[in-house]
Amino acid sequence: MIKVASHLYTLEPRQSLNAVSSKGQRQGSLLKVQWEDGLQGYADLHPWPELGDMPLREQLLQLSLGNYTSSVQQSLCLARWDAELRSQGKNIFDVGAPIKNNFLVSDISHVTAESLQAVKHQGFDTLKIKVGKDSQEETRLLNRIASSGFKIRLDFNGVGSLSSFQKFMADLSSEARAAIEYVEDPFPYSDQTWAEARQLCPIALDNYFDQVKWDVLSEAPCDVLIVKPAKLDMVEVKRLIKTWNLKVTITNYMDHPVGTMHALGTAMELKKELGDTVLQAGCLTHHLYQADVFFAELRNDGPYLRKTAGTGVGFDHLLEALPWQLVSPN
Ligand code: MG
Repeated sequence: MIKVASHLYTLEPRQSLNAVSSKGQRQGSLLKVQWEDGLQGYADLHPWPELGDMPLREQLLQLSLGNYTSSVQQSLCLARWDAELRSQGKNIFDVGAPIKNNFLVSDISHVTAESLQAVKHQGFDTLKIKVGKDSQEETRLLNRIASSGFKIRLDFNGVGSLSSFQKFMADLSSEARAAIEYVEDPFPYSDQTWAEARQLCPIALDNYFDQVKWDVLSEAPCDVLIVKPAKLDMVEVKRLIKTWNLKVTITNYMDHPVGTMHALGTAMELKKELGDTVLQAGCLTHHLYQADVFFAELRNDGPYLRKTAGTGVGFDHLLEALPWQLVSPN
């Protein structure tokens, strides 16, 4: 039997995070898990009800009843990894070579030639741009950004349709289209419409993972799989990327720094195993939130996140000092 304790936290976004989120505070819970063999580890639980996850309170209620939701199962799996690293005195950065991250642009209207120059100067070569709010303005700005030399990832978060996406792509200059590495969730998933979208550019699957009938497909549903270790089991992920010859981008869940370090560690470990199949990660989101004691320990050197002090995901003293509340029934 395991013992699980919770510490509720609130994150304060500095601005709207994506096309589906409101601007309000975000709630989540850190979990402290103790196993019968004496190991103890930590993980984050940061559901996004806007993206179809069960709300946090309900997840914790189920946990208190001894039922593990799929999000909680992933958190427990990551907590076990943290526990094993801690017991060996290892930091999660010790699992592989550092991996680059894309630079996240939440609001394209804030991008200027000077700001892009500064981003490039820091060492970034890939922008991930959240779109889907005002396609006319977005295509105009993308046509301007295209000459900057960055690879571009676009994320629509499923806002739109095949026809609105076709128009969006037609409005881009050939230079802008050539700069696109992939487009994430251009509109809600269906086999046929996504197959058509893939004629226009590489397509990445993120929030519609559960809607794909993986076992009956006759061709790959996408070119790239966006994997959030907070949500997906990595054994299954590895099977799918090998079966369908997919590339993969590991991202955090715009979550607590504990979740971010777990995502980054997963990316480093997977890259060690699969090499170029693993693209640049998307784990640099800490600047989206107001700083607190945890965020203060997250630093990046351009596209690389720096190692946090301590074992496992780090933050040893901060995690030990938190007030924890027992959740599980045992
Ligand atoms: Mg996405």
